Amino acid sequence: TLQTIIVVTPTYKRLTRVADFTRLANTLSHLSNLYWIVIEDGPETVPVVQKMLERTNLNFTYMAHPSPPNYPNRGWYQRTMALKYIRENYTNFMRSQNGVVYFGDDDNSYDLRLFEEYIRKVNKIGMWGVGHVAGSLVESPRVSNQKVVGFDAEWSPDRYFAIDMAGFALGLQLILESDAVFRSSCPSGTGALESCLLTDLGLNREDVEPFGFEKENEREVLVWHTKTLIPDIYEFRPSAWNWLFPKP
Ligand code: UDP
Ligand code: MN
Repeated sequence: TLQTIIVVTPTYKRLTRVADFTRLANTLSHLSNLYWIVIEDGPETVPVVQKMLERTNLNFTYMAHPSPPNYPNRGWYQRTMALKYIRENYTNFMRSQNGVVYFGDDDNSYDLRLFEEYIRKVNKIGMWGVGHVAGSLVESPRVSNQKVVGFDAEWSPDRYFAIDMAGFALGLQLILESDAVFRSSCPSGTGALESCLLTDLGLNREDVEPFGFEKENEREVLVWHTKTLIPDIYEFRPSAWNWLFPKP
């Protein structure tokens, strides 16, 4: 049967959020058997986001969890809350335990084939290359005979799992069998929390199912760590802000 893809997206109030979220909602709207968990990094959910989610016709949960002071920001605490939510509630939103969890930030660019050809086929942990991330043209596992033997990364290549979260997905079973979450710090990941989550889940490099490495000369990037340029706004009409952040 078709695995359910659970996409976890932290989001917060920033100038480019509605634009970014529009593109992500349009992308995910093409997919079936997908459950979208969106976590607002703020005190409450935001109506404009709620309405975008409703228009996708996808199954979703939208909840608010402001970051506590001791956590690094950038969505880590929100993803942790999503992991807890999945463990407590998956029986309510899934008919089986046949699923896979992917951390999809609101500003990245996703090829639809990423979902059907890679994520949907992950058993325990799948990995692939990510374009334009952390100083690399492409950051990816280094694969030999379909086994991960290291990582090609410019930034902190000595991390045990030197990969951004856009570059992996995790089997739901693995998440349900563990209580690992994103820790508030991860020295072995030089501050990036991905590597610690994966080792806390008990994973080794040998567990990784690499995707997209079959043909040496036909590699493609299916997810890009894009960043939307913050527009240079010199808007003096106070009411103009209602377009982006309407009062509830
Ligand atoms: N994010 C968040 N709270 C923050 C900063 C970021 O929820 O204070 C979310 C953001 O909406 C995105 C993800 O976390 O989905 C990663 O943030 P960002 O794109 O700013 O970071 P980068 O691209 O540098 O990893
Ligand atoms: Mn980003």
